[in-house]
Amino acid sequence: MSHDIQALDRAHYLHPFSDFKALGEEGCRVIVGAEGVYIIDDQGNRILDGMAGLWCVNLGYGREELVDAATRQMHELPYYNSFFKTTHLPAVKLAETLCRLAPAHINRVFFTGSGSEANDTVLRMVRRYWALKGRPDKQVVIARENAYHGSTVAGMSLGGMAPMHAQGGPLVPGICHIRQPYWFDESSGQNPEAFGRDCAAALEEKILALGEDKVAAFIAEPVQGAGGAIIPPDSYWPAVKAVLDKYDILLVVDEVICGFGRLGEWFGSVHYGLEPDLMPIAKGLSSGYLPIGGVLVGDRVAETLIEEGGEFFHGFTYSGHPTCAAVALKNLELMEAEGVVERVRDDLGPYLAQRWAELAEHPLVGEARSLGLIGALELIDPATGERFDKSLGVGNLCRDICFASGLVMRSVGDTMIISPPLVIQHGEIDELVTKARAALDETARRLADTTTSPLQESLA
Ligand SMILES: *Cc1c(COP(=O)(O)O)cnc(C)c1O
Repeated sequence: MSHDIQALDRAHYLHPFSDFKALGEEGCRVIVGAEGVYIIDDQGNRILDGMAGLWCVNLGYGREELVDAATRQMHELPYYNSFFKTTHLPAVKLAETLCRLAPAHINRVFFTGSGSEANDTVLRMVRRYWALKGRPDKQVVIARENAYHGSTVAGMSLGGMAPMHAQGGPLVPGICHIRQPYWFDESSGQNPEAFGRDCAAALEEKILALGEDKVAAFIAEPVQGAGGAIIPPDSYWPAVKAVLDKYDILLVVDEVICGFGRLGEWFGSVHYGLEPDLMPIAKGLSSGYLPIGGVLVGDRVAETLIEEGGEFFHGFTYSGHPTCAAVALKNLELMEAEGVVERVRDDLGPYLAQRWAELAEHPLVGEARSLGLIGALELIDPATGERFDKSLGVGNLCRDICFASGLVMRSVGDTMIISPPLVIQHGEIDELVTKARAALDETARRLADTTTSPLQESLA
């Protein structure tokens, strides 16, 4: 059966972010089920999902309450739009709940189907806001290199992923990028706090170079996710905030990963004490059970759009989709009732930090970092203490070894990253760390072998 599925997959399915040809040749693992923090493949292997799907299955797999919420809503009203002076209970209740959980100055939400659409919405909202304020020249959005803001044209233009830019151009005009606060790779050993301040200074330099009167907004993830679980130095966000306070520029904090408990608060912005004007959300909003995203809109922007804007010509067929909204609402209710966010902050985050830090002693690891339930390992060549040659693909090798030994850990270049479900137990964190260490050992062993045989062969 697996063989048939793989053949059909190869024949017809173009996978996201994949080399179609190489994937067709290698074939895919078929995932057939999941429970708790484990996924199950068609060979019956139980694999610890250290990535919570794609950073989204915050409550873990197999939650009947979410299934029931979807079923009930689909019986009652599976779909209706809210374009034509209509509304429905799930979207209204979800909006109310989100605004209650968000910082006090945020009281409105615009729904989308995904995080990418949320960032498209952000771009339109910030430009519309400044146009309504009589400052249509404030158009430019400053973003960061190696940021991820989605894969629609606006999303990838806001993002700072060079390979995506190289394929999708020309990019949406009026977006520019500054350096990222990636201490391990880009500090040349500078003191982390000084480095963080330098990265924030780059924002001010860019604002001055463009002219404050041209800059609409700054967008950033609290902790960069897809870029490599990059946790900025503690000095970074306060210094960024000080720069933004000095100039009249909106702050957009992309909460698609950091929102809904990942950093031990409902929003990453709360962890860092930020007061964003706009917060795009998605992923953990529904624990990934159904697709839904949105933009939480602070009072300053919302009131302008409402009072002065007239019709906002923007929206999606699935904005506020009742079934997706019902599942998201139930997801948030369960997270609140079970104290999931507090547990990440007070118990699981500190426990992971302690266990994860042990991996820093491994010869392949140059840095082990974590915050809440997001973490990274920086792989280095023990012989030199430097990065491996990129062409060796050491991160991918380690990732494949992990998967084969029952752990999903993702690689971004030679950075290994984790973002497990927020309901993971201590014993499962232990298992994650044990499996990660074994995979590092095996990676080191294979690398030692490659002095005699090329890496690709030793992989097979
Ligand atoms: C995943 C992600 C997005 C895009 O969300 P999609 O639902 O995949 O469109 C945007 N921003 C961040 C920070 C993300 O991690």
